[in-house]
Amino acid sequence: MAFAPGTENSEACMDFERISRLVEIPAAARRLLERPSVEVKTCLNILYDGKLLCADSFLVIHNEARGPGKGGIRMTATVDMEHTRRLAELMTYKCALVKIPFGGAKSAVQVDPEALTPDSRTSLIKEYAHCYQHYLVPGLYIPAPDMGTGPGDMATIYGCTHVMESVTGKPERVGGLAGRLEATGYGVAAIARMAAADVLKQDIAGCKVAVQGFGNVGQWTAIVLARAGARVVAVGDINGAALCEEGFSIEDLERSTVPELAAAHTALSVSDILFVPVDILIPAAVEGVLNEDTAGRIEARLVVEAANAPVTPEGDSALAARGITAIPDILANAGGVIASYAEWQQGKSGRVMEREQTYEIIEDRLSRAYATVSGIAAREKVTHRLAAQAAAVHEVAQAMADRKWIPS
Ligand code: NAD
Repeated sequence: MAFAPGTENSEACMDFERISRLVEIPAAARRLLERPSVEVKTCLNILYDGKLLCADSFLVIHNEARGPGKGGIRMTATVDMEHTRRLAELMTYKCALVKIPFGGAKSAVQVDPEALTPDSRTSLIKEYAHCYQHYLVPGLYIPAPDMGTGPGDMATIYGCTHVMESVTGKPERVGGLAGRLEATGYGVAAIARMAAADVLKQDIAGCKVAVQGFGNVGQWTAIVLARAGARVVAVGDINGAALCEEGFSIEDLERSTVPELAAAHTALSVSDILFVPVDILIPAAVEGVLNEDTAGRIEARLVVEAANAPVTPEGDSALAARGITAIPDILANAGGVIASYAEWQQGKSGRVMEREQTYEIIEDRLSRAYATVSGIAAREKVTHRLAAQAAAVHEVAQAMADRKWIPS
């Protein structure tokens, strides 16, 4: 999927016209995929420190053909219903591509997380859990962390629902899964390794990598890649970036912030990181950073989409025209939702999983999905994005037929 943040474009995120040249999409399936099954807007109102705090909140369950709605909670000042809808759609296809029995969903709270005190944040998350309890408690929607939220918030939600499997991404001490915290980054690094071997014909050890975004996903991606021997030469966040030609040490990536790394090495601007000459560029921050202009100027040979929708449609065309392969978000960042599935299973069964098992599950699901996508891309001579979309849409359409939602 590709869209620019805040745009009012109401088209579905999938390119159904091009996908239908690869797989048959029944008209009824397409109709359902173009209409989310649930959209709720709620005002979260809390009284904090004698003041009223009002935050708009959105829940979208896009499609439940393959199972209950799964998707993280985004907390940013700018997120809206349109944005939440696009992210929910992505989840439908991501879960289908890696074949886990979930549908696609997303929720969001429109507030700047930096402006919240720890106590006001807890009150807001409790209000969120209260307002959405009819989706959370029966397991119709199963949230997890996304941008602006983390394990502590998931622990708060569990404290409200009292149902272990109602939320994933919890801290390990509170029913969370060993390895869930780093799961998305672990998966991004695994996909980068597979794509380096397949597309660049190069071992990941020694590959030069730049990672934009140094939150949960970006930092873990950088750490896991550095552990695998990759040379992580640039990392950046919302305020700036840092460059180190020899590659940052694993300890640096584990312990330091971007400003600390910039002070100790070379400082770059927020956008400069995109243009550092590397083998692999990993956008792991926000949507739409690789657009017609920026995608035309990057000096990477491969893009691995750790963030959701970091490439706009125009950016995608620019990359394709330059022969730069982009591994799409629905494949590259699916490690998180695969681990969430394992956590959900753990919560339901009461059987605790070891960290290594989590890694094995991620590796297994991602390598199968990668093989499917690269196989279609090679056979049909299409981009990895289109191949991934075709495989995912086909899977969801089949599930709809199985459930007699559409004629078979
Ligand atoms: P996070 O809030 O932990 O970190 C976000 C990072 O991006 C921070 O370092 C922030 O400074 C940086 N950033 C924000 N705006 C930026 C900008 N304009 N330019 C450069 N850097 C900027 O978020 P996260 O959980 O790491 O999520 C990052 C991306 O990965 C999002 O697109 C999210 O949807 C996606 N994702 C997250 C998960 C997960 O498990 N957390 C799973 C799948 C996909």
